Amino acid sequence: MVSSGQRSCCRIRAGHGGDRADPGHEGRIAEGPSQPEARGFHPRGPTPRVTDLVASMHRALAKHVRITEEQKGGQDHGSAGSGPRDSGSPQRTGARRHGSSEIVRRRRYMVKSIFPTLQGEGYNTGRPAVFCRFSGCNLWNGRESGRSNAICGFCDTDFVGTDGEGGGRFESPATLAAAIHACWSFSSPAFVVFTGGEPTLQLDAALIGAVRENGAVLAIETNGTNPVPEGVDWICVSPKSGAPLRQRSGDEIKIAWPQSGLDLAELERLEFSHRFLQPIDGPDVDHNTAVTIATCRDRPAWQLSRQWHKVLGIP
Ligand code: SF4
Repeated sequence: MVSSGQRSCCRIRAGHGGDRADPGHEGRIAEGPSQPEARGFHPRGPTPRVTDLVASMHRALAKHVRITEEQKGGQDHGSAGSGPRDSGSPQRTGARRHGSSEIVRRRRYMVKSIFPTLQGEGYNTGRPAVFCRFSGCNLWNGRESGRSNAICGFCDTDFVGTDGEGGGRFESPATLAAAIHACWSFSSPAFVVFTGGEPTLQLDAALIGAVRENGAVLAIETNGTNPVPEGVDWICVSPKSGAPLRQRSGDEIKIAWPQSGLDLAELERLEFSHRFLQPIDGPDVDHNTAVTIATCRDRPAWQLSRQWHKVLGIP
Protein backbone atom coordinates (compact mmCIF):
# COMPACT_ATOMS: atom_id res chain seq x y z
CA MET A 1 0.00 0.00 0.00
CA VAL A 2 1.66 2.78 -0.90
CA SER A 3 0.45 6.03 -1.07
CA SER A 4 -0.06 8.39 -3.55
CA GLY A 5 -2.80 7.06 -5.37
CA GLN A 6 -2.21 3.92 -3.87
CA ARG A 7 -4.92 1.77 -2.85
CA SER A 8 -3.37 1.94 0.60
CA CYS A 9 -0.36 -0.17 2.36
CA CYS A 10 -2.57 -1.61 1.57
CA ARG A 11 -2.50 -1.27 -2.08
CA ILE A 12 -0.96 1.69 0.22
CA ARG A 13 -2.13 -0.20 3.06
CA ALA A 14 -1.75 -0.78 7.54
CA GLY A 15 -3.00 -2.36 13.29
CA HIS A 16 -2.68 -3.21 16.84
CA GLY A 17 -3.00 -6.68 18.01
CA GLY A 18 -3.97 -5.89 21.52
CA ASP A 19 -7.55 -5.24 20.62
CA ARG A 20 -8.11 -8.31 18.59
CA ALA A 21 -10.79 -10.54 19.93
CA ASP A 22 -9.81 -13.97 21.05
CA PRO A 23 -12.92 -16.00 21.69
CA GLY A 24 -10.93 -18.81 23.14
CA HIS A 25 -9.53 -16.54 25.82
CA GLU A 26 -11.67 -13.50 26.36
CA GLY A 27 -14.89 -14.95 25.15
CA ARG A 28 -15.45 -17.31 28.05
CA ILE A 29 -15.92 -16.34 31.62
CA ALA A 30 -16.44 -19.04 34.20
CA GLU A 31 -18.92 -18.25 36.88
CA GLY A 32 -20.43 -19.73 39.97
CA PRO A 33 -19.00 -21.83 42.75
CA SER A 34 -17.30 -24.30 40.43
CA GLN A 35 -14.58 -21.81 39.51
CA PRO A 36 -12.30 -22.33 42.54
CA GLU A 37 -12.33 -26.08 42.02
CA ALA A 38 -11.55 -25.64 38.38
CA ARG A 39 -8.39 -23.80 39.39
CA GLY A 40 -7.40 -26.54 41.83
CA PHE A 41 -8.35 -24.47 44.87
CA HIS A 42 -9.49 -26.65 47.72
CA PRO A 43 -9.66 -24.76 50.97
CA ARG A 44 -8.97 -26.99 53.92
CA GLY A 45 -11.67 -27.25 56.48
CA PRO A 46 -13.77 -24.13 55.79
CA THR A 47 -16.95 -23.79 57.69
CA PRO A 48 -20.15 -23.85 55.64
CA ARG A 49 -20.48 -20.13 56.17
CA VAL A 50 -17.03 -19.44 54.70
CA THR A 51 -17.75 -21.68 51.71
CA ASP A 52 -20.98 -19.92 51.04
CA LEU A 53 -19.27 -16.56 51.28
CA VAL A 54 -16.55 -17.52 48.78
CA ALA A 55 -19.11 -18.88 46.35
CA SER A 56 -21.16 -15.76 46.68
CA MET A 57 -18.15 -13.57 45.99
CA HIS A 58 -17.35 -15.50 42.84
CA ARG A 59 -20.93 -15.22 41.60
CA ALA A 60 -20.90 -11.50 42.22
CA LEU A 61 -17.56 -11.07 40.47
CA ALA A 62 -18.67 -13.07 37.44
CA LYS A 63 -21.84 -11.02 37.21
CA HIS A 64 -19.91 -7.77 37.43
CA VAL A 65 -17.48 -8.83 34.71
CA ARG A 66 -20.35 -9.92 32.47
CA ILE A 67 -22.23 -6.68 32.85
CA THR A 68 -19.12 -4.61 32.28
CA GLU A 69 -18.24 -6.48 29.12
CA GLU A 70 -21.77 -6.18 27.79
CA GLN A 71 -21.67 -2.45 28.40
CA LYS A 72 -18.37 -2.18 26.56
CA GLY A 73 -19.80 -4.12 23.68
CA GLY A 74 -22.61 -1.69 23.29
CA GLN A 75 -20.29 1.26 22.84
CA ASP A 76 -18.67 0.41 19.59
CA HIS A 77 -20.03 2.76 17.04
CA GLY A 78 -16.91 4.45 15.81
CA SER A 79 -16.01 5.71 12.41
CA ALA A 80 -12.45 6.06 11.21
CA GLY A 81 -9.62 7.18 13.42
CA SER A 82 -6.58 6.28 15.41
CA GLY A 83 -7.97 3.82 17.91
CA PRO A 84 -10.36 0.91 17.87
CA ARG A 85 -13.37 3.03 18.58
CA ASP A 86 -12.18 5.91 16.56
CA SER A 87 -10.98 3.90 13.69
CA GLY A 88 -14.20 2.45 12.50
CA SER A 89 -12.76 -0.96 13.11
CA PRO A 90 -14.34 -2.31 16.25
CA GLN A 91 -14.11 -6.04 16.37
CA ARG A 92 -15.83 -6.88 19.59
CA THR A 93 -19.36 -5.79 19.67
CA GLY A 94 -21.20 -6.99 22.65
CA ALA A 95 -21.75 -10.38 24.11
CA ARG A 96 -24.50 -12.89 24.46
CA ARG A 97 -25.10 -15.69 26.91
CA HIS A 98 -24.29 -19.13 25.63
CA GLY A 99 -25.67 -21.88 27.77
CA SER A 100 -25.45 -21.23 31.47
CA SER A 101 -21.74 -20.62 31.98
CA GLU A 102 -20.23 -18.92 28.96
CA ILE A 103 -20.27 -15.61 27.25
CA VAL A 104 -19.49 -15.61 23.55
CA ARG A 105 -18.62 -12.36 21.86
CA ARG A 106 -20.12 -11.45 18.56
CA ARG A 107 -17.81 -9.85 16.05
CA ARG A 108 -18.42 -7.08 13.68
CA TYR A 109 -16.15 -6.26 10.80
CA MET A 110 -16.14 -2.72 9.45
CA VAL A 111 -15.45 -2.80 5.74
CA LYS A 112 -15.07 0.17 3.47
CA SER A 113 -15.43 -1.77 0.24
CA ILE A 114 -15.27 -5.19 -1.41
CA PHE A 115 -14.71 -5.36 -5.14
CA PRO A 116 -13.29 -7.54 -7.92
CA THR A 117 -10.28 -6.09 -9.70
CA LEU A 118 -6.76 -6.80 -10.90
CA GLN A 119 -3.91 -6.35 -8.44
CA GLY A 120 -2.35 -3.11 -9.60
CA GLU A 121 1.11 -3.10 -8.04
CA GLY A 122 3.91 -5.18 -6.65
CA TYR A 123 4.67 -8.82 -7.32
CA ASN A 124 1.12 -9.89 -8.18
CA THR A 125 0.46 -7.07 -10.63
CA GLY A 126 -2.19 -8.05 -13.13
CA ARG A 127 -3.58 -10.95 -11.13
CA PRO A 128 -7.37 -11.09 -10.77
CA ALA A 129 -8.32 -10.54 -7.16
CA VAL A 130 -11.09 -9.60 -4.77
CA PHE A 131 -10.09 -6.67 -2.62
CA CYS A 132 -11.52 -6.43 0.89
CA ARG A 133 -10.71 -2.97 2.16
CA PHE A 134 -11.20 -2.66 5.91
CA SER A 135 -12.12 0.64 7.49
CA GLY A 136 -9.68 2.39 9.76
CA CYS A 137 -5.93 2.76 10.10
CA ASN A 138 -3.62 3.21 13.07
CA LEU A 139 -1.31 5.67 11.32
CA TRP A 140 -3.87 8.23 10.14
CA ASN A 141 -7.50 8.85 10.98
CA GLY A 142 -8.33 9.30 7.33
CA ARG A 143 -9.47 12.90 7.66
CA GLU A 144 -7.68 15.81 6.05
CA SER A 145 -7.84 17.73 9.31
CA GLY A 146 -5.68 15.06 10.88
CA ARG A 147 -3.17 14.56 8.09
CA SER A 148 -0.57 17.04 9.33
CA ASN A 149 -0.30 15.19 12.66
CA ALA A 150 -0.47 11.69 11.20
CA ILE A 151 2.46 9.28 11.28
CA CYS A 152 1.63 8.41 7.69
CA GLY A 153 0.96 11.63 5.84
CA PHE A 154 0.96 10.69 2.16
CA CYS A 155 -1.97 8.29 2.00
CA ASP A 156 -4.53 8.88 -0.72
CA THR A 157 -6.84 6.02 0.15
CA ASP A 158 -10.35 6.55 1.47
CA PHE A 159 -10.78 4.05 4.26
CA VAL A 160 -13.23 6.02 6.40
CA GLY A 161 -16.61 4.52 7.08
CA THR A 162 -18.39 1.67 5.33
CA ASP A 163 -19.99 3.38 2.39
CA GLY A 164 -17.89 2.08 -0.50
CA GLU A 165 -18.81 -0.52 -3.09
CA GLY A 166 -19.78 -3.69 -1.25
CA GLY A 167 -18.88 -2.13 2.10
CA GLY A 168 -20.79 -2.39 5.34
CA ARG A 169 -20.83 -3.78 8.85
CA PHE A 170 -20.58 -7.52 8.81
CA GLU A 171 -21.79 -9.27 11.93
CA SER A 172 -19.86 -12.50 11.51
CA PRO A 173 -16.91 -14.06 9.68
CA ALA A 174 -19.36 -16.12 7.62
CA THR A 175 -21.31 -13.15 6.30
CA LEU A 176 -18.17 -11.29 5.34
CA ALA A 177 -16.65 -14.36 3.73
CA ALA A 178 -19.83 -14.83 1.69
CA ALA A 179 -19.70 -11.23 0.49
CA ILE A 180 -16.08 -11.66 -0.55
CA HIS A 181 -16.69 -14.86 -2.45
CA ALA A 182 -19.71 -13.38 -4.18
CA CYS A 183 -17.25 -11.07 -5.97
CA TRP A 184 -15.26 -13.98 -7.42
CA SER A 185 -16.78 -15.25 -10.66
CA PHE A 186 -14.24 -17.90 -11.65
CA SER A 187 -14.21 -21.64 -10.98
CA SER A 188 -10.64 -21.47 -9.70
CA PRO A 189 -10.01 -20.62 -6.04
CA ALA A 190 -10.38 -16.95 -5.29
CA PHE A 191 -7.40 -14.68 -4.73
CA VAL A 192 -8.42 -12.40 -1.87
CA VAL A 193 -6.41 -9.33 -0.88
CA PHE A 194 -7.08 -7.90 2.59
CA THR A 195 -6.14 -4.27 2.67
CA GLY A 196 -7.24 -1.01 4.22
CA GLY A 197 -6.72 1.12 6.06
CA GLU A 198 -4.78 -1.33 8.14
CA PRO A 199 -6.15 -4.85 7.76
CA THR A 200 -4.42 -6.34 10.82
CA LEU A 201 -6.71 -4.23 12.99
CA GLN A 202 -9.56 -6.53 12.06
CA LEU A 203 -8.37 -9.64 10.27
CA ASP A 204 -8.46 -12.55 12.69
CA ALA A 205 -8.35 -16.33 12.74
CA ALA A 206 -12.11 -16.68 12.48
CA LEU A 207 -12.33 -14.64 9.31
CA ILE A 208 -9.27 -16.30 7.80
CA GLY A 209 -10.86 -19.69 8.45
CA ALA A 210 -14.18 -18.66 6.95
CA VAL A 211 -12.64 -17.29 3.76
CA ARG A 212 -10.29 -20.22 3.33
CA GLU A 213 -13.13 -22.75 3.50
CA ASN A 214 -13.63 -22.27 -0.18
CA GLY A 215 -9.98 -22.85 -1.04
CA ALA A 216 -9.18 -19.20 -1.49
CA VAL A 217 -5.64 -17.89 -1.57
CA LEU A 218 -5.29 -15.07 0.96
CA ALA A 219 -3.02 -12.07 0.68
CA ILE A 220 -2.56 -9.05 2.92
CA GLU A 221 -1.14 -5.60 2.37
CA THR A 222 -0.14 -4.17 5.73
CA ASN A 223 2.00 -1.40 7.15
CA GLY A 224 3.66 -4.02 9.34
CA THR A 225 2.86 -2.42 12.68
CA ASN A 226 1.14 -5.62 13.82
CA PRO A 227 2.06 -9.24 13.26
CA VAL A 228 0.02 -10.88 10.52
CA PRO A 229 -2.19 -13.72 11.80
CA GLU A 230 -1.44 -17.30 10.80
CA GLY A 231 -3.10 -18.58 7.67
CA VAL A 232 -2.33 -15.77 5.24
CA ASP A 233 -0.63 -17.08 2.10
CA TRP A 234 0.96 -13.89 0.79
CA ILE A 235 2.28 -11.17 3.07
CA CYS A 236 3.12 -7.80 1.61
CA VAL A 237 4.52 -5.27 4.09
CA SER A 238 4.80 -1.57 3.40
CA PRO A 239 6.76 0.00 6.27
CA LYS A 240 6.13 3.60 7.20
CA SER A 241 8.73 5.96 8.54
CA GLY A 242 8.15 6.66 12.23
CA ALA A 243 6.00 3.59 12.78
CA PRO A 244 7.16 0.39 14.50
CA LEU A 245 7.81 -2.56 12.21
CA ARG A 246 6.64 -5.75 13.87
CA GLN A 247 5.95 -7.90 10.83
CA ARG A 248 9.57 -8.31 9.73
CA SER A 249 9.31 -11.15 7.25
CA GLY A 250 7.07 -12.15 4.41
CA ASP A 251 6.78 -12.55 0.68
CA GLU A 252 7.04 -8.96 -0.42
CA ILE A 253 8.21 -5.66 1.00
CA LYS A 254 6.95 -2.66 -0.92
CA ILE A 255 8.01 0.82 0.04
CA ALA A 256 6.45 4.09 -0.99
CA TRP A 257 9.49 6.10 -1.93
CA PRO A 258 11.17 8.36 -0.97
CA GLN A 259 10.60 8.28 2.78
CA SER A 260 13.22 9.89 4.94
CA GLY A 261 13.78 7.83 8.04
CA LEU A 262 13.65 4.46 6.32
CA ASP A 263 17.02 2.72 6.03
CA LEU A 264 17.05 0.59 2.88
CA ALA A 265 20.22 -1.23 3.91
CA GLU A 266 18.55 -2.32 7.13
CA LEU A 267 15.35 -3.31 5.33
CA GLU A 268 17.34 -5.39 2.87
CA ARG A 269 18.42 -7.61 5.77
CA LEU A 270 14.83 -8.58 6.56
CA GLU A 271 13.44 -11.88 5.31
CA PHE A 272 11.34 -10.96 2.31
CA SER A 273 11.40 -12.82 -1.01
CA HIS A 274 10.74 -9.74 -3.14
CA ARG A 275 11.53 -6.05 -2.64
CA PHE A 276 9.91 -3.11 -4.40
CA LEU A 277 10.21 0.64 -4.37
CA GLN A 278 7.21 2.57 -5.63
CA PRO A 279 7.07 6.33 -6.26
CA ILE A 280 4.78 8.25 -3.95
CA ASP A 281 1.99 9.77 -5.98
CA GLY A 282 0.69 13.28 -5.68
CA PRO A 283 2.02 16.70 -6.65
CA ASP A 284 5.65 15.51 -6.46
CA VAL A 285 5.15 12.33 -8.44
CA ASP A 286 7.59 13.26 -11.19
CA HIS A 287 10.33 14.03 -8.69
CA ASN A 288 9.51 10.94 -6.66
CA THR A 289 9.57 8.76 -9.76
CA ALA A 290 12.99 10.05 -10.75
CA VAL A 291 14.34 9.47 -7.25
CA THR A 292 12.87 5.97 -7.15
CA ILE A 293 14.35 5.02 -10.51
CA ALA A 294 17.74 6.32 -9.43
CA THR A 295 17.53 4.41 -6.15
CA CYS A 296 16.68 1.15 -7.92
CA ARG A 297 19.65 1.66 -10.22
CA ASP A 298 21.93 2.16 -7.23
CA ARG A 299 20.51 -0.66 -5.13
CA PRO A 300 19.82 -3.79 -7.19
CA ALA A 301 18.09 -5.48 -4.26
CA TRP A 302 15.06 -3.37 -5.12
CA GLN A 303 12.76 -3.50 -8.13
CA LEU A 304 10.71 -0.62 -9.44
CA SER A 305 6.95 -0.91 -8.95
CA ARG A 306 4.24 1.24 -10.45
CA GLN A 307 0.63 1.64 -9.62
CA TRP A 308 -0.70 0.24 -12.84
CA HIS A 309 -4.30 0.41 -11.70
CA LYS A 310 -3.96 4.18 -11.79
CA VAL A 311 -2.23 4.28 -15.12
CA LEU A 312 -4.82 1.98 -16.71
CA GLY A 313 -7.90 3.18 -14.88
CA ILE A 314 -8.54 -0.10 -13.07
CA PRO A 315 -10.70 0.34 -9.98
S1 SF4 B 1 -2.52 6.01 6.22
FE1 SF4 B 1 -2.69 3.82 6.72
S2 SF4 B 1 -3.70 2.94 4.91
FE2 SF4 B 1 -2.91 4.93 4.28
S3 SF4 B 1 -0.89 4.49 3.40
FE3 SF4 B 1 -0.59 5.03 5.54
S4 SF4 B 1 -0.54 3.10 6.63
FE4 SF4 B 1 -1.48 2.67 4.61
